Amino acid sequence: MSMMTGKQYRESLRQLKPEIYYMGEKIKSMVDHPAFIPHVNSAALTYEMAWAPEFEELMTVTSHLTGERINRFTHIHHSHDDLVKKVKMLRALGQQTGSCFQRCVGHDGLNAVYSVTYDMDREKGTDYHKRFVKFLEEIQAQDLMVSGAMTDPKGDRSLPPSKQKDPDAYVHVVDRRDDGIVVNGAKAHITGAVNSHGHLVMPTHAMREDDADYAVCFYVPVDAPGVIHIFGRQTNDTRKCDCMVDQGNTEYGIVGGEALIVFDNVFVPWEHVFMCGEHEFAYELVERFATAHRQNYGGCKTGLADALIGASYLLAEVQGTGRASHIRDKLVEMVQLTETLYCCSVACSCQGFAMPAGSYMADPLLANVTKLNVTRHVYEIARVAQDIAGGVLATTPGEMDWKDPRVGKYVDKYMKGVADVPAETRIRLVRLLEAMTCGTALVESMHGAGSPQAQRVMIGRRANLEHKKRLAQKLAKIGDQPLFVL
Ligand code: SF4
Repeated sequence: MSMMTGKQYRESLRQLKPEIYYMGEKIKSMVDHPAFIPHVNSAALTYEMAWAPEFEELMTVTSHLTGERINRFTHIHHSHDDLVKKVKMLRALGQQTGSCFQRCVGHDGLNAVYSVTYDMDREKGTDYHKRFVKFLEEIQAQDLMVSGAMTDPKGDRSLPPSKQKDPDAYVHVVDRRDDGIVVNGAKAHITGAVNSHGHLVMPTHAMREDDADYAVCFYVPVDAPGVIHIFGRQTNDTRKCDCMVDQGNTEYGIVGGEALIVFDNVFVPWEHVFMCGEHEFAYELVERFATAHRQNYGGCKTGLADALIGASYLLAEVQGTGRASHIRDKLVEMVQLTETLYCCSVACSCQGFAMPAGSYMADPLLANVTKLNVTRHVYEIARVAQDIAGGVLATTPGEMDWKDPRVGKYVDKYMKGVADVPAETRIRLVRLLEAMTCGTALVESMHGAGSPQAQRVMIGRRANLEHKKRLAQKLAKIGDQPLFVL
């Protein structure tokens, strides 16, 4: 068995020396720093739950490469069942963490690169797939967490990479050597970057011939020389350092913990290079990765929504409105929205198909519809939760005043709802709802896995509007249409 426990995962991170900056400070021990602990905890659960008998079937699987039992986050999907189980696994993890557990991005990257390198080799005579399989065996054997680093800073969006004033606006190859390549640039908004073991870097969008140096895919350890992480700020993030209850989700945080990763003349040996100049395959890689990650969102986000619905219901009970019919209606509405998203993720998994490499990918049209629905439904679910909670969500006194001997008794007295439930219960629920429905948590549902416009573009490409037009022409008896339009 080659799987790590949560404890071993934390210990493995301690062996690494990544360069990380946050709030003007160079971080010495990320694993022990309060700003990072919740994100490490959340990722650690992807290791811990794999050892729980009740989650074994979802969280573990047999490697098609070695026949070993491995964590599903390092697996290449080989059936519809694998695709559906991924969604179920993400929902289970979302329920337990109420937050982002980060490891899916790299998992989706591994799956995308696996199938694209296979196709590339067949068409171009390269040997990327063999290299990648060897690399994947190491990832599976060591149970490593890999970040999926796709989004470039992009500079002026009206210009392609090679026409940017600053050539580093996109990650690109600056030198090709006998033993490897040297890259410059950066990747932005990278989830779980600082607490991963390494980064799987992929191109961010389609590339033309002029942009061949930007069509590059590779893996680097998180502490490779020249790899610099600048950790992003989140709503209320200082609460992680000076409060407990006010954090809302003390154990697992708000979202994944994103970072800007800078590559300052980073050397990558050839065995970890999986695309270098094959610009024709850049879009294919992006689409396969995006499909895999958008497939996820009706999994992880519905897990979070389950916890959110529970928090709303509990808060209503604590406030004495739990039996009101309008509250029951609102809870049902939240459930309906949640299950609609879950249906989308399950559907795109069941409609998935085999790739020439033998791996499986979800249906791209339905996966993009899934994610686009998330950009609306999660906001709506949060809106209803805030409606149920009331204005207290924005006005609850802080933990420091609650603990202050001069005024704490008043907070206790006036924050109480029903008589037999202490004020602390209400405060904790309010803070959890605040963490899950305000600020960064919502933005993640909008822009994580790509902004809504990216989904619209892919839906437009796959929609086959011409076929729909012909259907209408046949019904309206316009032109000469066959009996069946297929
Ligand atoms: Fe995984 Fe969801 Fe976080 Fe993406 S947003 S990394 S799918 S938990």
